[in-house]
Amino acid sequence: MIVSPAFAGKSYAVLGLARSGLATVEALLASGAKVMAWDEREEARNQLLPGTGRGTARSAVEGAHLSAAPDVGPLHQPAAGPPPRSGGGRQLRIADPMATSIYGFSGVVVSPGVPLNRHPIAKRAREAKVPVIGDIELFAQARASLPAHRVVGITGTNGKSTTTALIHHILTTAGVPTTMGGNIGLPILGQEPLPEGGVYVLELSSYQIDLTQSLDCDVSVLLNISPDHLDRYDGMDDYAASKARLFTMQSPDHVAVIAVEDDYTGAIAGQIDGKLALVSSADVKDQSRWPSLQGPHNAQNVAAAVSAVRSLGVDDAAIALGLATYPGLPHRMERVAEREGVLFVNDSKATNPTSTAPALAAYPAVHWILGGRAKSDDLEACEPYLGHVRAAYTIGEAGAMFARLLEPKLPVEECGVLDAAVGRAAEAAKAGEVVLLSPACASFDQFKDYEARGDAFRAAVEALA
Ligand code: ADP
Repeated sequence: MIVSPAFAGKSYAVLGLARSGLATVEALLASGAKVMAWDEREEARNQLLPGTGRGTARSAVEGAHLSAAPDVGPLHQPAAGPPPRSGGGRQLRIADPMATSIYGFSGVVVSPGVPLNRHPIAKRAREAKVPVIGDIELFAQARASLPAHRVVGITGTNGKSTTTALIHHILTTAGVPTTMGGNIGLPILGQEPLPEGGVYVLELSSYQIDLTQSLDCDVSVLLNISPDHLDRYDGMDDYAASKARLFTMQSPDHVAVIAVEDDYTGAIAGQIDGKLALVSSADVKDQSRWPSLQGPHNAQNVAAAVSAVRSLGVDDAAIALGLATYPGLPHRMERVAEREGVLFVNDSKATNPTSTAPALAAYPAVHWILGGRAKSDDLEACEPYLGHVRAAYTIGEAGAMFARLLEPKLPVEECGVLDAAVGRAAEAAKAGEVVLLSPACASFDQFKDYEARGDAFRAAVEALA
């Protein structure tokens, strides 16, 4: 894990104890910080208590030592919930920062899943003059004590994971010590520090950038900006401004790679004073040797990744080999089966119309399964490729709305659930055609997450008679 003297003796509240929250607690404690940890879910809190098999168990007898701030008494303690309590010894206390004083703390560390525009912790932290940060900011603060290294940060509405994994893969191919973190892979603070010369490749959502104040990336990459997450921002300009902060945190001699194929990224590029590499999918002429990087969207991802690794000094031979051997990621245009000449493709990760459009573009004859929890009430980005769609099969909350939109243009069946849609699409598809799950929606109405939705698609395909 990443241990840093930067945190020693300071107090932090950690709100949200999923994977990255737990890794944050452990890294802060190991660094000699005092931690107040909290999660609404009791099971999550219990993972930090003694005897649960986590690293804190051995110091159970030490008791709590969080003395920096006196309690102000419960404000929002759930009626049935437990009182604040000590757990696990060392400098750890389990208590709700909404109900306990955080004055004098060095940070409230929240998970990017906490909607700061609505969650009361934002106001409480502001009143106490405590910065609200994420684990990426802690990583940024720990950097000075790590072996000499470089950081690449990747953001954009779509293509972040693909581009992050691709940069990481090319660096690995070139023999550079590297690891992925942020929105992908293991929590960054839980990872072993890289040896000297290593490159940390961080996928950064706009929520993570909002929680980061001092990450000076050696190379920052912006892929594209289109409508998404507007429940958390005050319109598109705010959302774009959040992404632009990745560049304002950079020193002028560091590199900004920006794909300038939409107005928002173009405007951000126009504001950059430092070293700027403008890229575009049009730079990529021939994708035939890269099986897992098909479609115009992947041309954009390749253009950005190649520019980023070149600026890190990777040579052309390693880049060519990396592109050819990149294995792809699950749930992104993933070929799951071929049955009687029909290809079944899992693109469950496409959670908005802009990310679905390239999947429709990539195949000439598609039986398209779409729907879920809609992020927009139109399919405008997909319109240019509707000629590729033989029929559509809608599911989930948005099923009826999408059916009304598509009915004038092509055959549509409202199937309600994924299993039924897979069955109907498989029945209708002929050899040479593709059954594509590319929902253009979030999954949360019917599934835990997009991975569960993609796994359910694969299972339904495997169960076909
Ligand atoms: P992210 O991590 O930003 O969500 P992914 O790489 O996981 O992006 O890809 C998510 C979806 O977006 C995939 O289904 C893919 O079809 C689509 N996509 C990937 N790259 C791009 C791009 N550069 N532009 C538009 N859509 C893309």
